[in-house]
Amino acid sequence: MTALRDGSPGRRPTVTVDVGGVFVGSSHPIVVQSMTNTDTADPDATAIQVARLAAAGSELVRVTVNTDAAAAAVPDMVRKVRDLGFGTPIVGDFHYNGHKLLVQFPEAARVLAKYRINPGNVGGKHRDANFAAIVRVAIENDRPVRIGVNWGSLDQQLLTELMAANARRPEPREAREVMIEAMVESAVRSAELAEQTGLGHDRIILSAKVSGVPDLVEVYRRLAARTDLPLHLGLTEAGMGAKGIVASSAGLAILLGEGIGDTIRVSLTPEPGAGRELEVEIAQQILQSLGLRSFMPQVSACPGCGRTTSTFFQEMARDITEHLRRRMPEWRETRPGVEELRVAVMGCVVNGPGESKHADIGISLPGTFEEPVAPVFVDGALHATFRGEDIVARFIDLLEEYVARRYPGPAIAPAASPASRSHDPA
Ligand code: SF4
Repeated sequence: MTALRDGSPGRRPTVTVDVGGVFVGSSHPIVVQSMTNTDTADPDATAIQVARLAAAGSELVRVTVNTDAAAAAVPDMVRKVRDLGFGTPIVGDFHYNGHKLLVQFPEAARVLAKYRINPGNVGGKHRDANFAAIVRVAIENDRPVRIGVNWGSLDQQLLTELMAANARRPEPREAREVMIEAMVESAVRSAELAEQTGLGHDRIILSAKVSGVPDLVEVYRRLAARTDLPLHLGLTEAGMGAKGIVASSAGLAILLGEGIGDTIRVSLTPEPGAGRELEVEIAQQILQSLGLRSFMPQVSACPGCGRTTSTFFQEMARDITEHLRRRMPEWRETRPGVEELRVAVMGCVVNGPGESKHADIGISLPGTFEEPVAPVFVDGALHATFRGEDIVARFIDLLEEYVARRYPGPAIAPAASPASRSHDPA
């Protein structure tokens, strides 16, 4: 796999879509997005969750707009998000009744930055008319749309049509093949219909989400070969915990490594009562691990082994990682470039000094039976040797000094960009 930087020749060329000031596609950075799970009819709860996702680094946030009450609450909710200090574009997710809600609640249509349309859920025999009605609202409000196909709600009429055509072939293909073709066809034909209705080519983003990694890769490879529209990547119904994280990472990494994908979401099922910020963190980490974007300093820590029999090493790796995370909201504003910092926290002399030399700043603890000293490396050279009880505190002090020296920041700190505001709203 080629490590791709945004704008490198390896990135698939696309048109650029402006989503409320966030540019998606072409050589623009791959955009991280997320989605709320509050009742949109509750503007306070939704505004707080949008703000939390934005504070975590989500550059677009999508909200469900499923009822009259939800659509009516959208303007108030967006105003509250702005009052909390976040300018993050907010996207409306519509199914079944989007053609009615967007017309009946014009203020909601006006304040939303983009509309997501699922072509499988716009209405049976009036499907094309309903789809066109949403597109006309997008044109009137100069808004882009995402045509988001999902295999859980695939256009049944199209699938039936393709299945019938397949059955007539001398050698019918497997049902999976036809399903993948139907996903791609649904997205491409819907984009054509949107353009025939009058929507600009640079006002459309496509997605075609499935829940299995091999299918996801196949669908997006075919979609990328058919269109120059930007693609939103994500594994749908990814699941909880390690399964959801690993499956999303595996699928997205393959596609992003091939230059496919202009915006991503990691659709994790949260633990009951938990926030949604983890999906933003994972999306950022996927992009940073692939060398596509930088969001926060990276800590290289060894797993530890029989040479690190106490918990001191794990605690140190955790404390340093948490310190970096705590400091990032301020550093993001005052220390531009710090997100590129590489820190090593290693357990013993076997790989510790070597890994520390590769990092900007690194520490290697003494392993079992080693001399109780911790060599510290700065910019590849031995800087100091710590010993005693306060190793962690001294290393963090040194880290702070290093960051202040290496990333002095502008003389006057710039105003925060809306997508990068970082305070916790509640
Ligand atoms: S660096 Fe040392 S402690 Fe860490 S995994 Fe390797 S041998 Fe074990």
